[in-house]
Amino acid sequence: MHVRVDEDTCIGCGTCEEICPAVFHLKDDGKSEAYDPEACDFAGCCEAAEENCPVEAIHIEQD
Ligand code: SF4
Repeated sequence: MHVRVDEDTCIGCGTCEEICPAVFHLKDDGKSEAYDPEACDFAGCCEAAEENCPVEAIHIEQD
């Protein structure tokens, strides 16, 4: 599983970090990044973060 955040689309709402702090965090510029994308495989919350992103900036690709 591979996850990435489209930073051009992200509005920095923080929802993904709240839902899945093992994978996402907000950077100093206010945009989210998947700082540990491989954690998606066991964190079990990446799909929920993707579904709850209000601007659909999170993209998950299955390997
Ligand atoms: S939920 Fe979406 S818009 Fe909000 S911080 Fe995360 S990636 Fe950005």
